[in-house]
Amino acid sequence: MADYEAIVIGAGNGGLTAAATLAQHGVRTLLLERHNVPGGCATSFCRGRFEFEVALHQLSGIGTEEKPGPLRLLLARLGVLDRLELVPMDDLYRVVIPEVIDITLKPDRDATVAALQAHFPAHKDGIAEWFDLLWGLFGEVIGAFYFKDPQVTREKYPLFHRYALQTSAAEMDRCLKDPVLKTVASAYWTYMGLPPSRLALTDMAALYFAYSEFLPYHLRGGSQALSNALAQSVLDAGGDIRFNCGVRRILVDDEGVAGVVTEAGDTIAARQVVSNVSKVATYVDLIEADRVPLAVLDELRQARIGPSAFTVYLGLDAEAADLGMTASTTFIVGDTDPDRIYARMFQREIGPRDGMLLTCYNAIDPGFSPPGTCQAALVTLKYGESWRDVPPRDYADEKYRIAADMLSAAERVFPGLRGRVEEMEIATPLTHQRYLGHPQGAIYGFDHHVKDSPLFVANRPHIRGLYGAGGWYGSGGFQPTLESGVAAARAVLRHLNRSEAR
Ligand SMILES: Cc1cc2nc3c(=O)[nH]c(=O)nc-3n(C[C@H](O)[C@H](O)[C@H](O)COP(=O)(O)OP(=O)(O)OC[C@H]3O[C@@H](n4cnc5c(N)ncnc54)[C@H](O)[C@@H]3O)c2cc1C
Repeated sequence: MADYEAIVIGAGNGGLTAAATLAQHGVRTLLLERHNVPGGCATSFCRGRFEFEVALHQLSGIGTEEKPGPLRLLLARLGVLDRLELVPMDDLYRVVIPEVIDITLKPDRDATVAALQAHFPAHKDGIAEWFDLLWGLFGEVIGAFYFKDPQVTREKYPLFHRYALQTSAAEMDRCLKDPVLKTVASAYWTYMGLPPSRLALTDMAALYFAYSEFLPYHLRGGSQALSNALAQSVLDAGGDIRFNCGVRRILVDDEGVAGVVTEAGDTIAARQVVSNVSKVATYVDLIEADRVPLAVLDELRQARIGPSAFTVYLGLDAEAADLGMTASTTFIVGDTDPDRIYARMFQREIGPRDGMLLTCYNAIDPGFSPPGTCQAALVTLKYGESWRDVPPRDYADEKYRIAADMLSAAERVFPGLRGRVEEMEIATPLTHQRYLGHPQGAIYGFDHHVKDSPLFVANRPHIRGLYGAGGWYGSGGFQPTLESGVAAARAVLRHLNRSEAR
């Protein structure tokens, strides 16, 4: 049996970057993945002549060669940047509230402010103030946390001290006032799954800063291309990967982690394990109950499992422009009260009052699907609880019924959509639960309330030698999960007294 220093469980974003970083630093590393391909959420599937992207709508943190973002630097360090074709998006996003507003914003702060001021001249000063606040606040977060300033004083970081524990709604109401303006200027809240009344102001600032300063990107070949490149980087650095190899047990003895047992019954020893599996499954299913520290169970009890998603993947026999898909990212919003939209995330039904996102990469990349076609993903966030009680015999009917309602809602913006459907596939929270193994099919891990911010809660091992990587151990989303794997690997390297130089 091979002798491994570190085992990584799960080849989602966090698991892949953890394994690649460890292998690059000479740690004998084994990556175990239950599925037959790498990626977790970051994957694709084929139907007919279309290859559908499962998860990625907009990749943040990339930037340009001249002004690289943190994710570009991370991918370069892992040796995968040259293997990827990154396509920048022309637009930040388009927001349509049917019969109320249809506006497209550019991925540039000044252009966004100017466009909003032109549409809402009565709120000119408030718009400037709102974006100044987001940029000022996030600038302080970067200084204090990313650059690890040892002196985070009130004088040096006044905005951080004032707003670190606040949600977004109060300042947004004060600056923007108009409900339509607020809807347009805060549409990204859905990327974190919490409405402005619950979303930390620092998280709102991070979203707008990351996408505006470093541009939103799409990947040619989809997120599967990124996952494949990362898996290759693990192998190139001498690491091993086993697919179709789930882990059934993490072994713990008096010294800490001792190894894993696979679903096939193999025992593999290692004193360092990085889990990319949900925190719930890691501590409740994979570790013997008497080895789980009570503090973890307390933590799990206090956390709320975050939303999953309902997605309709569409292969369409018409070009994007013919269907009115002028931007790659369109938020269709049926209600200017985000709290009401959030309340509907607990219901299975989808209707015209919901919020949803339509992504059509063909709008910026005509070669994304065969000539004369385009493809689109129509997604809305839904908590998985509402799908739990659907009897198996009703499941297929239920998902097609709800998908039909969702398409009707989208047709208010893209008339004739249904008539051009050549291929259609639907993913519900139960689909994500089945493929990822995450409770309730949650796609961002736990809900991230202000108190749960990674700025305050450290991702420390509860069991010696056991580390977490991925959305359940920090924030969900591509950039944070890719970064979290590197952070987990660095913790392992520190423990092993290896240099973190690269
Ligand atoms: C529909 C959808 C839309 C999204 N849109 C965006 C977006 O536009 N922008 C963005 O930034 N983010 C988006 N996300 C979120 C983003 O994709 C996820 O936050 C991120 O990919 C999760 O990465 P992760 O590291 O947490 O691993 P996951 O993707 O959760 O993968 C975990 C891996 O662990 C494996 N595993 C589980 N149990 C075991 C076991 N016992 N043994 C071995 N392996 C196991 C699973 O098979 C899986 O491969 C979206 C997600 C979805 C599903």
